[in-house]
Amino acid sequence: MLKVENIDVYYDKIHAIKDVSFTVKQGEVVTLIGANGAGKTTILKTISKILEPTRGVVLFEGEPLSKLLPHQLVYLGMAHVPEGRRVFAQMTVKENLEMGAYIRKDKSSMKADYDQIFTYFPRLKERMNQPSGTLSGGEQQMLAIGRALMSKPKLLLLDEPSMGLAPLLVKEIFNIVQTIKKQGTTILLVEQNANQALQVADRAYVLETGKIIKSGNAIELLEDDSVKKAYLGG
Ligand code: ATP
Repeated sequence: MLKVENIDVYYDKIHAIKDVSFTVKQGEVVTLIGANGAGKTTILKTISKILEPTRGVVLFEGEPLSKLLPHQLVYLGMAHVPEGRRVFAQMTVKENLEMGAYIRKDKSSMKADYDQIFTYFPRLKERMNQPSGTLSGGEQQMLAIGRALMSKPKLLLLDEPSMGLAPLLVKEIFNIVQTIKKQGTTILLVEQNANQALQVADRAYVLETGKIIKSGNAIELLEDDSVKKAYLGG
């Protein structure tokens, strides 16, 4: 579904991403793990067309994304939940979810999708008419994911969904990732929380200073000595 081929990304003179290639197949959860500054967010932003690679190509369902603008990706079936859960703070929960669905023509089936999102995140239902800026950090993360799901994406790009959340909430978010996968959405998950990410993912790539240094099945990487040492706390 997604193919990233030999991309290089620079911030001015900083060579942030170095010859990175990876794939995400339909129905998979793939995770990119790595320390702070490894380049995880940069890769997601490149896939979303916020950044341009100086070399290499990103293909979505076989089509190169080179000529597209960021806002066009949602029409192809890609949704990006950026780091830092950016919701529209002045708008209510309901309005934020509506924004996620603005491209959809099948307005009649939207009710079912709201219901689905409220089954994932019951707390959002209780807060439907609350301005989103007054939600807790965890609730805003739920809303950011819910809003992305309202566009019915084929591929969901999730940037550090667990960042800054209490352990119980982290667990909840990762459980939801599992459920979204079961509903048939393909997911590319970027995480510093390698332990949790590897537990929900099918496959993983390990990123270090802009390069992929290891890849494999998530279960195997959970047992890999060097991964354990560097990313799993022993
Ligand atoms: P984190 O987990 O801390 O979010 P990350 O793996 O997502 O880290 P990136 O944010 O992709 O890492 O950053 C990769 C590298 O690019 C870092 O060295 C960072 O300092 C640099 N970088 C990121 N954004 C910019 C920018 N706007 N200008 C210059 N350098 C940047």
